[in-house]
Amino acid sequence: MKKYAVHEDNSLGREYLENKSPLRNDFQRDRDRIIHSSAFRRLMYKTQVFVNHEGDMFRTRLTHSLEVSQISRGVARSLELNEDLAETIALAHDLGHTPFGHAGQDALNKCMKDHGGFEHNYQSLRVVDKLEKRYCDFAGLNLTFESREGILKHCSKKNAISLGPLGERFINKTHPSLEAQIVDIADSIAYNIHDIEDGYRSGILPLSKLKRLDFFNESYRNLRNDLNGYEAAEKVYVYETLRRMLFLLINDVTNNSRKLINDTNIRTIDEVRNNKTTLINLSTPIQNYINDCRNFLRTNLYQHSRVNNMTRSAQKIISDLFIYYDDNFEALPSDYKIHEKKYRSIADFLSGMTDRFALEKHKSLN
Ligand code: MG
Repeated sequence: MKKYAVHEDNSLGREYLENKSPLRNDFQRDRDRIIHSSAFRRLMYKTQVFVNHEGDMFRTRLTHSLEVSQISRGVARSLELNEDLAETIALAHDLGHTPFGHAGQDALNKCMKDHGGFEHNYQSLRVVDKLEKRYCDFAGLNLTFESREGILKHCSKKNAISLGPLGERFINKTHPSLEAQIVDIADSIAYNIHDIEDGYRSGILPLSKLKRLDFFNESYRNLRNDLNGYEAAEKVYVYETLRRMLFLLINDVTNNSRKLINDTNIRTIDEVRNNKTTLINLSTPIQNYINDCRNFLRTNLYQHSRVNNMTRSAQKIISDLFIYYDDNFEALPSDYKIHEKKYRSIADFLSGMTDRFALEKHKSLN
């Protein structure tokens, strides 16, 4: 590993001192704690774009997290960084997501408007710091500083101030480790490509529509040229095109970041954190491709009427449940009530729900 990677001996450690594991390094141990957490298992039943019951073939938060982890590990390995840490952050990065994807998060944020708001990155940190209760000696999973730093991708100033050293970078405008920066980009690479695939699979984004996206169209045309008349089912062409796009993005972020790190002459993790800019980045033309994908998906998939209908019903479910627990606070499981403010407790409980649990709870109210 490079010197500027996160190593056990430059780690800022855990909040509660623990003996070292005889079998695993600190970051492998963090990863294992995440995989064994109940919040991780619940990702299986949380929406990425399509609600869980719409079909078994669509991505869920769990499969999304696994894809982010696979991409992150590959990039970390190529750049001789800490692969275990990258994997850990990736597996944990969406633990705080509400049911029903972004619609659920927006709805909960609205309900919490006068009570401190709701931020899903901050919530992921609350899950690993406080809400998981599996150990006698401490609340949460007692992860290393570097895993927690990576999980907290964004944070409002108000919340950052309450977090001590972990929140400082949002006030001082410094950066997290390179491993955390990798997961940030791997997340957007993963969802842009897999949302196109799920959109195609759902019928909302047929091939004719996909061809309007230049990045797709160019890759598709190159593929057809390379295949030189070989005939396959349309979906095989589409998946192969997406595979090539994914390769191009991963290849670009790896090579461009290696060059950036070398050009900046970075030697230590402190220099990584204090550098003017992030060092894990796509090259400008390829970043433009990703931006195009995001705009294309927003217009053609995320705002499509079928997805919008789901969004509207998700908002109603979350706000009805919020009102219900506000009026009937005693109905909230006692696990969520200890040492916490009322509305934060409700938000913790609602955000931890899976899609189907929220649907069933909502049904039982009527
Ligand atoms: Mg994500």
